[in-house]
Amino acid sequence: MSVATPGRFGRFGGRYVPETLVVALEELEIAWNEASRDPGYRAELEACLRDFVGRPTAFTRAPRLSAEAGGATIWLKREDLAHTGAHKINNTVGQVILAKRMGKSRIIAETGAGQHGVATATACARFGLDCEVFMGAEDARRQSLNVFRMRLLGATVHEVDSGSRTLKDATNEAMRDWMGSVGETHYILGSVVGPHPFPTIVRELQSVIGTECRVQCLETLGRLPDAVVACVGGGSNAAGIFAPFVADADVRLIGVEAGGRGVAPGGHAAPLAFGEPGVLHGSLSYVLQDRNGQTADVHSCSAGLDYPGVGPEHAHWKETGRVEYRVVDDEAALAAFQGLSRLEGVIPALETAHAVAASVELAAELPPDANLVLNCSGRGDKDVQEVMRLLDT
Ligand SMILES: *Cc1c(COP(=O)(O)O)cnc(C)c1O
Repeated sequence: MSVATPGRFGRFGGRYVPETLVVALEELEIAWNEASRDPGYRAELEACLRDFVGRPTAFTRAPRLSAEAGGATIWLKREDLAHTGAHKINNTVGQVILAKRMGKSRIIAETGAGQHGVATATACARFGLDCEVFMGAEDARRQSLNVFRMRLLGATVHEVDSGSRTLKDATNEAMRDWMGSVGETHYILGSVVGPHPFPTIVRELQSVIGTECRVQCLETLGRLPDAVVACVGGGSNAAGIFAPFVADADVRLIGVEAGGRGVAPGGHAAPLAFGEPGVLHGSLSYVLQDRNGQTADVHSCSAGLDYPGVGPEHAHWKETGRVEYRVVDDEAALAAFQGLSRLEGVIPALETAHAVAASVELAAELPPDANLVLNCSGRGDKDVQEVMRLLDT
């Protein structure tokens, strides 16, 4: 397999799916290639990102967090200020506008904690498309507020009762639905994972973060940053802020995985640190597997990082050394959650809190004249109850 094979990132990526889906993925690839070059699609997306999502998001200095870290100045890219409170909406509005263009009337999506389900339902409500979200019954029980949000937004939520009744099972069910409904249905994947062309589409739609950030750095700092830090679940907020800096060899890029309770199998969600190459949900990347090749159990205090796989482009960036990956555990994330709240007046998502902890650590390693950008992927309102529970015990 050559590096230039479409849908490959080095040896990673690809399209490991049943025959019936290949046709749908090829149709999607063609539609995306046309749309992404069409000024009409780009203008509609840009207007939506400006007027509905609220872009560009702010880029602000974090003076008190920087002082506490002691070292580089930390800057926040404020994706938490985007509509619905995180970066996920950048992807869902882009794919809904694409689906409309493809003549699809129905959208399906998988969701774990419900954040991607809510972002998808929001975009569908805005553009008047039917929306059906697959969610594990166990997840639906734990995240009943997000189930209600999706229903308020007009979506149908299917609770999936198979397997462990969580994200993995919901994804399988969404794929199965798509196989039988591709004519009228578009499937919106929530991160830079899955079969080609999803990792590329989602990275391109999330690249608005890095493109804006690059301009904001040049305007505000007069130069590029020394380092950019983002948390990695499936890897979409990280890919989105990293991609426009990848060609700038002097900009260090740091992805942060969830260390959970520690390095023991089942205790974390860090496939790049502790996993091996394998196929999950249609592409080859790093995966957490047990000795029999079964997908391993994962744990993180943050639902959005609690995934045994990671986008194939991150696997490539790890192997080529272009991006450094670090691990932050639950305890450090919980402390950083409180730290950013107290020092900057920004309550971050628990996912984001992992990047906050790594940023403080890295800032201390850098000289005082260095600038570090922290991608603030989402706001923490959704997590305050869980943090209250965790701090109580
Ligand atoms: C879903 C989510 C993540 C993890 O997803 P990525 O695809 O890795 O970005 C990170 N932060 C927030 C706020 C999220 O909602």
